[in-house]
Amino acid sequence: MSNIISGKELSKTIRQEVKEEVAKLKEKFNKVPHLVVIIIGEDPASLSYVKAKERACLRAGMKSTLMRKEESITEEELLNLIHELNNDDDVHGILVQLPVPGHIDDNKVINAIKQEKDVDGFHPLNVASVHLGTPGILPATPKGIMTMLKSTNTEIKGKNALVIGRSNIVGKPVAMLLLKEHATVTIAHSRTQNMKELALQADILVAAVGRPNMVTADMVKEGAIVIDVGVNRVDDKLVGDVDFEAVKEKASFITPVPGGVGPMTIASLLQNTIECFLMIEDK
Ligand code: NAP
Repeated sequence: MSNIISGKELSKTIRQEVKEEVAKLKEKFNKVPHLVVIIIGEDPASLSYVKAKERACLRAGMKSTLMRKEESITEEELLNLIHELNNDDDVHGILVQLPVPGHIDDNKVINAIKQEKDVDGFHPLNVASVHLGTPGILPATPKGIMTMLKSTNTEIKGKNALVIGRSNIVGKPVAMLLLKEHATVTIAHSRTQNMKELALQADILVAAVGRPNMVTADMVKEGAIVIDVGVNRVDDKLVGDVDFEAVKEKASFITPVPGGVGPMTIASLLQNTIECFLMIEDK
């Protein structure tokens, strides 16, 4: 029977800390962090993500601007907009909600955002920081995952960690952050052949795949910490990548879906917005 790591509760604490920090920044700099989120098109899931981000910013006392653009926006128009925001002293964080429509090169978009305004941590220089272990803006989901792991007060050093998924936004950076904490890290993906064998050795298992119930109880080592990043819609219900009910009987700690990694991603984004603000204002 495991302990549930509630991202909902942990993120509330972080959001309260952020709110207090924002109040102090307002005193000191006479302004508050300002996040601009650009969303293109009408995808309901993306819209609900950006609205949640906007609400969280406003509740923390930050300034938030949501820029909604039509699908027909050209790459050049979007890059020009980013350029303007890069040069706007009133803007501290810029986030372009991904995915962008197919006619826009997402790499060009990510590269266009100034490193110190890159609240998502996707700019190549921030990606390099994760790999080099040097200071930089961490991508929000991996940062939230590490905060959750640390909240268990379990030593990461020397532990076997398995990260299932190798995306640039979750799997790879999580693996690097675990390595930085001296875990012995294995990364698995769709071509991995001995998944169960690898999983059974993992003291820390992070599932970031997007396949409901792919991690079953027979794959989980007794006492492992299981972080479920997946978000899947099944019969109108949100579920993760882990068979939560069965795996919670074996894991020492486990994150639920919903109410796990999701809220931590938003809390980490708020922390990143403060970091960006300080890089810009506190030179
Ligand atoms: P992604 O870019 O689609 O990557 C999925 C990864 O899973 C890939 O590396 C893929 O391997 C691997 N994979 C696919 N099928 C597999 C299989 N059968 N066995 C092992 N590995 C397999 O997804 P992502 O952006 O990393 O997101 C992963 C999940 O996390 C999604 O459900 C997403 O919605 C969720 N997510 C949640 C949050 C949050 O805040 N809660 C944030 C981001 C993402 P290959 O590389 O070989 O194709």
